[in-house]
Amino acid sequence: MIEIKNIQKSYGAFHALKNISLSFRTGETTVIVGPSGSGKSTLLRTLNLLEVPESGILKNGEFVVDFGAKISKDTMMAIRKETAMVFQSFNLFPHLSVLDNVIEGPFTVLRLSKADATARAKNLLKKVGLADKLDNYPEQLSGGQQQRVAIARALAMQPEFVLFDEPTSALDPELEAEVLRVLKELASEKLSMIIVTHNLDFAREAADRIIFLEDGVVGFDGPTDEFFKHSNDPRIAHFISSIT
Ligand code: ATP
Ligand code: MG
Repeated sequence: MIEIKNIQKSYGAFHALKNISLSFRTGETTVIVGPSGSGKSTLLRTLNLLEVPESGILKNGEFVVDFGAKISKDTMMAIRKETAMVFQSFNLFPHLSVLDNVIEGPFTVLRLSKADATARAKNLLKKVGLADKLDNYPEQLSGGQQQRVAIARALAMQPEFVLFDEPTSALDPELEAEVLRVLKELASEKLSMIIVTHNLDFAREAADRIIFLEDGVVGFDGPTDEFFKHSNDPRIAHFISSIT
């Protein structure tokens, strides 16, 4: 479980997150939607401390961060370990093969043996449909394949939550579909995921819950079917019409 309370984040004079409190249960897929600039990435990045707000509390399992005070290195490492991030731009290690990209974290950070890290990586690469690409390098793969490697790499760390920031927005529709298929499968397996996306069809199918952010404030937070029932709420309707 991740909980945040009274999170305030500004960039200079711009107030990006305005007193946000939310919790995320394990075993659920949460989709975060909202207009550009509403604070989605800032919120997601706060959950693994890539962004440090001015004030508020973050709890992740037994670890507690008070953003008003100094964050200990151990707490930061522990929280990072429980939250793996998948980025829009894949961010694979270009000089490592597909297999080595996935082995790297478990081997160096989790201190698995090479054999165990390799077995885990091969399993995950098979799961995302890339068993035949182990020895390729990222530049030899399509964007959709690269993103599936990035997903396998995140899963290999066995984090409590996997965070995705617009994982398909750099992809053409057919490549997007192959990544979304993997995400739907993970959702059906009850992996704990928090996904920022503009793809409402995907949200409708895969999300247990939707959070709608608007100007740094939570405009809706509830079950997916409730969100779509509220699609005649003027703010939600306006948002939906802006992206479809
Ligand atoms: P998008 O859909 O375009 O990705 P978003 O909802 O993810 O938008 P954020 O990236 O969280 O939005 O940004 C929220 C606001 O904070 C935006 O107005 C953005 O310009 C501003 N912002 C984000 N990062 C910085 C930064 N490093 N410095 C200054 N302003 C920033
Ligand atoms: Mg963003």
